[in-house]
Amino acid sequence: MDFDLTQDQKAIRDMVRSFAREELAPQAAEYDRTARFHQPLLDRMAELGLFGIPFPEAYGGSGGDTTSYALTIEELAWADGAVALTYAAHCSLGAGYLNLFGSPAQKDLWLTPAAQGKTLIAFGLTEPGSGSDAAHPQTRAEREDDGWVLNGSKAYITNAQNAGAAVVMAATRPGGGKGGVTAFLVPAGTPGFSVGPQYEKLGLHGSDTAPLFLDGVRLGLDGIVGEEGRGYEQSLQILDGGRIGIAALSVGIGQAALDRSLAYARERVAFGKPIGQFEAIRFKLADMAMELELARTAYLRAAWLKDQKRPYRQEAAMAKLFASEAATRAANQAIQIHGGAGYMRDVPVERYWRDVRLMEIGEGTSEILRLVLAREIGA
Ligand SMILES: Cc1cc2nc3c(=O)[nH]c(=O)nc-3n(C[C@H](O)[C@H](O)[C@H](O)COP(=O)(O)OP(=O)(O)OC[C@H]3O[C@@H](n4cnc5c(N)ncnc54)[C@H](O)[C@@H]3O)c2cc1C
Repeated sequence: MDFDLTQDQKAIRDMVRSFAREELAPQAAEYDRTARFHQPLLDRMAELGLFGIPFPEAYGGSGGDTTSYALTIEELAWADGAVALTYAAHCSLGAGYLNLFGSPAQKDLWLTPAAQGKTLIAFGLTEPGSGSDAAHPQTRAEREDDGWVLNGSKAYITNAQNAGAAVVMAATRPGGGKGGVTAFLVPAGTPGFSVGPQYEKLGLHGSDTAPLFLDGVRLGLDGIVGEEGRGYEQSLQILDGGRIGIAALSVGIGQAALDRSLAYARERVAFGKPIGQFEAIRFKLADMAMELELARTAYLRAAWLKDQKRPYRQEAAMAKLFASEAATRAANQAIQIHGGAGYMRDVPVERYWRDVRLMEIGEGTSEILRLVLAREIGA
């Protein structure tokens, strides 16, 4: 058994770490405060080739190594959870969908610029009336002679306002259900396709989250991504991979919370000594470090299995569930260790706590992941 990263994986992690700590971290609080989208920083990430990491060379990527991709997300998230979410939602979900299921023509047109970081692809699964129950969208696609007509809406879509196109799920049979949902590629600017205003969120303020509206959107027969009627099953496959990314994102934010807390515990003095000398604080730090390292090991194992082309649904679900809950606990304890200062905007731990909370909700809530796991283990 070999627990070491390869030289290439270490080189990518170190390069992203330098970029994230030198260029992203110093600006993270300001992007959060102003809720601005990180376009200049995304352009830098495109220059560094980060968008190509999970995609094949034939489409402008650098090979598709899941481990390097997940490490990249962890490093970005350490500095700024919102940028990490923009990146992960694009690569794992929108562009990832085209990579796995797109036709050669769709890949030439959309995956290549997506892998070069020139365009973002959004993924529209959730609707106002169905999130966890993703097999039953109210968005409908009706077949016409020369194509499809889509009507409906999508809720909470990451990168909605900044994407060049969205992959959206629609029922192609009344009520949807297994065999009744199909994925469609809808380019921005298609008549009838519009994006609503930004939601006001608890955290991840620099990430773009908005609703999508489909009002008589006409697409050709080539608008389908993958197989007609297989959109739900394809989406489950996409979410399996996405969960490795959310686990890594959680670990990145959790590690930032731990690093800040370690530094604070050394410098803050109470009752004549640094608070890090009190057992109550030392044990919190020890628990945070243990849980985050276990979470990291879990996501790396799931990534390794995926890279070996072996089944990984169960491991990805475990990694996402454990990492998101462990990182939320870590961010919560980081506030406690900082005392009153932890509640203030000028210390980043309150941002970590707000940002990390999404990880227990997006790409499968903790409750849904426990259902997935119970099924996987035959319970
Ligand atoms: C910032 C942000 C970004 C997002 N980005 C995207 C995106 O890019 N694309 C996209 O498609 N979606 C996106 N989402 C949506 C997200 O994936 C959903 O919010 C999530 O899947 C939960 O769905 P819901 O909100 O409809 O909750 P619901 O499904 O209504 O769940 C409500 C509660 O009920 C529980 N519950 C539901 N069903 C069961 C059950 N069978 N057993 C036990 N408990 C259950 C849930 O766990 C939860 O606690 C985003 C959300 C946010 C907040």
